[in-house]
Amino acid sequence: MTLLYPLDTALEPALRVRLLGTKAAGLQEMISLGIPVPPGFTLTTEVGAALRETGEWPDGLREEVDQAITNLETRLGQGFGSPSSPLLLSVRSGAPVSMPGMMDSLLNIGLNDETLPGLTAHHGNERFALDAYRRLLHMYGTVVRGIPSDRFRFRLNDLKSGRGSPRMSDAELDADAMRTLVAEYRSLIEEASEEPFPQDVRVQLWDSVRSVFLSWDNARAIRYRRIQGIHGAVGTACTIQAMVFGNTGARSGSGVAFTRNPSNGDRELYGEYLPNAQGEDVVAGLRTPVSLTVAGSTPGKDSSSLEASLPEAFGAVAGHCGALERHFGDMQDVEFTVEDGRVFILQTRAAKRTARAAVRVAVDMVHDGVLTKEQALLRVDARSLEQLLHARLPSQSELAAKGITPAAVGLPASPGAASGRIVFDAHEAVRWVAEGQDVILVRQETSPEDIHGMKVAKGVVTAAGGMTSHAAVVARGLGTCCVVGCGGLLVDVRARTVRIENAPAGAPDLREGDMLTLDGSTGHVYTGALDLVAASTVEELSELMQWADEARRMRVYAEADTPQTARAALSYGAEGVGLCRTERMFFAPDRLFAMQCALLSVEDEQRDHWLAELERAQRTDFVEIFEAMAGRPVTIRLLDRALQELLPTHEGTLSSIADALDLEVQEVRSAAKHYLETNPAFGHRGIRAGLTVPGLYDMQLRAMLLAASECTDRGTAVELEVLIPMVAFTSEVVTLRATVERLREELFPEPTPSFSCKVGTMIELPRACLIGDELAEHADFFSFGGNDLTQTVLGASRDDAKRFLPAYRNELGLLTGDPFTILDERVLEMMRIALERGRSRRPGLIAGLCGDQGGSPESIAACEELRLDFISAPLPLLPGARLAAAQATIRRESGC
Ligand code: PEP
Ligand code: MG
Repeated sequence: MTLLYPLDTALEPALRVRLLGTKAAGLQEMISLGIPVPPGFTLTTEVGAALRETGEWPDGLREEVDQAITNLETRLGQGFGSPSSPLLLSVRSGAPVSMPGMMDSLLNIGLNDETLPGLTAHHGNERFALDAYRRLLHMYGTVVRGIPSDRFRFRLNDLKSGRGSPRMSDAELDADAMRTLVAEYRSLIEEASEEPFPQDVRVQLWDSVRSVFLSWDNARAIRYRRIQGIHGAVGTACTIQAMVFGNTGARSGSGVAFTRNPSNGDRELYGEYLPNAQGEDVVAGLRTPVSLTVAGSTPGKDSSSLEASLPEAFGAVAGHCGALERHFGDMQDVEFTVEDGRVFILQTRAAKRTARAAVRVAVDMVHDGVLTKEQALLRVDARSLEQLLHARLPSQSELAAKGITPAAVGLPASPGAASGRIVFDAHEAVRWVAEGQDVILVRQETSPEDIHGMKVAKGVVTAAGGMTSHAAVVARGLGTCCVVGCGGLLVDVRARTVRIENAPAGAPDLREGDMLTLDGSTGHVYTGALDLVAASTVEELSELMQWADEARRMRVYAEADTPQTARAALSYGAEGVGLCRTERMFFAPDRLFAMQCALLSVEDEQRDHWLAELERAQRTDFVEIFEAMAGRPVTIRLLDRALQELLPTHEGTLSSIADALDLEVQEVRSAAKHYLETNPAFGHRGIRAGLTVPGLYDMQLRAMLLAASECTDRGTAVELEVLIPMVAFTSEVVTLRATVERLREELFPEPTPSFSCKVGTMIELPRACLIGDELAEHADFFSFGGNDLTQTVLGASRDDAKRFLPAYRNELGLLTGDPFTILDERVLEMMRIALERGRSRRPGLIAGLCGDQGGSPESIAACEELRLDFISAPLPLLPGARLAAAQATIRRESGC
């Protein structure tokens, strides 16, 4: 095994990422492009894996590291531990998958009481050297010794209070203050961990390397991987590099540059810069940075932008950014440091971006000739397109007209709008959400510890931090609305209050549970709950979707149960209705009442009367749906609901039904008992109810056919696909098909070219899969019902699986994904059996997937592998499903 690679090694790209992680792979790539990167070397993911497995360093590692450090010393003319000219090192994590901020890194390794004067002399700046030392102590204390970071911050705040104000910035602390802090931190480490801070620089280094490797398994990294669905990754690598310093004075600083605007995708260099600061200050959001560019600066602050204050360094950053974007063919997120006017690039990676930006950048890059359409389609996360349907607030002028003005304004870090109850920490956020509340997480700043709260919150607002702070980056990745750097909010986490700085005198502080509304697109924060409006669309989306539609093989239908959703489905690009669940058409109170009367009637005549009522209602809806779909396929599923769930539960309804049916309440109650079941999910539902409750399916079929006839008479073509639910026996399909044919002959005695009617079966039970060959003889198409098929293959109730699935996935680690979202392997195997058998009897059998998994990109990819003909997705997931289907075809055809 190769234990380490210098950063200037040329390694094959795939191997590079697997062994060195994306960060070090990016550094190697940059070096090959001639971009200035601090020199160093990377210990491979295999070293980390060996350490985690055995607790020991692999043989020969120490010698190789010593040699690599000697090489660095020779190259830089410095010595690791040298009092006169000390070499300082950074030790950074970096995995093959991007996990921003989730694992640990340490800076300034190599500083101790002896090397401190050397660093001071080299930069001619004692304050700077002491600042570097206290940062090392803070990082070492938290990362290596596990001392809570707040304990260091409290000491810092106490020191600031003693020197004026707890709100003074770190930059205002002089050398004397830093010296005090160094002493304070050293004693804190010794007190808290019962061991002093090591003065031996090699002990510092190996402690740090060990902690970095082991941070792969810290709680927040595990939680992040779980939330992001990252499985089977090999662990982190560890990169050791010579330090460069952004905090040596006014001609130094640290920043983050995005090659395009990550919120909206605009073609502009976008980013932030903190003068006289180390990189972690920008990311941690402890100080609010200035803009990189003059154009992006807030009015009055343009002269402090990097562009205005250090134009040469800005030019170098802009040049490197352009080169990197062209080289990678993707928008980059670049971290850089300026040391005494010299620019070093510390990291480049594909930038996290909102769905809006992702779509715009992908389309622009095709227009610019940088990407092919196929490459562009693969660049957009299909799951994220749902974000484009995010709600927003009315325009500021509309709000102002109603007298609504923002209570505070911060930076618009992640777009969309949200209202919810204020909570002050991630645990509370999770607790409140579990109780059914929408929450807004309000923090001074967020850290990786807050990720579970950010995930469930409707919105996140932080008082500090910039557009590249942790809160901003994570919220954009999650698609959660977010405002950062909102200094007008004075957050007191201990008192659990937030004061609005500009509130009228005497206005009470906001407390946990009070309502707050955020606009992540403008940075505005409003007290109270404001009405939200549906999202507007992104212009470039239709072009991208057009490419997706050209590239995909499978047809994409929508689930739609009402004329309104059918019309919306069309606007989202559905090619038809793949699943109209007719039982949902009975939810309106008058229809439910008619259904209850039909089910509880004791006389045939009465039942026929109520069924006729229902027929009229369904027919009206079907007409509208057929009209909306204008000749596209409409798949209507016959009623599939446990009948007991349709029965009355209130005494008042029972007596109304008794009146309507001219019965005693007692008689109605005993009629209702007839429908009660112990296990309704596997009981009297679907075709089983259809064949045993007289007139029920006939009524639905008549409604469909009459609606079709009405539409064709008016000149609207109808492609009706009748779907039979919960089929277990071939005879069920044979019987139902005969009914359809009988009614069709009755209602369409003459051939009608603008009308077609197919009869398909849902495949939702293992038995149905096994008799795929028989079913294919009698059914025109198969529609796999992923929800029920999962429930029946796993023997796990889809409604109750949440009682154990989260524990299986999270605490016990028995399962990686949620099988009710992503089709389980064994469910796919059952589908494969059904298809093989079905196709053996009917070559070219049409088959597709409906149910919740129809919206998940992974399931869609699996459907492509099975060569299904269509998928039917829930409405909000439809654009993502179209894109995922295209991606699946492109990947299959290109074999990647
Ligand atoms: C399914 O089971 O996947 C399906 C589409 O039917 P329903 O969710 O209505 O049971
Ligand atoms: Mg089902």
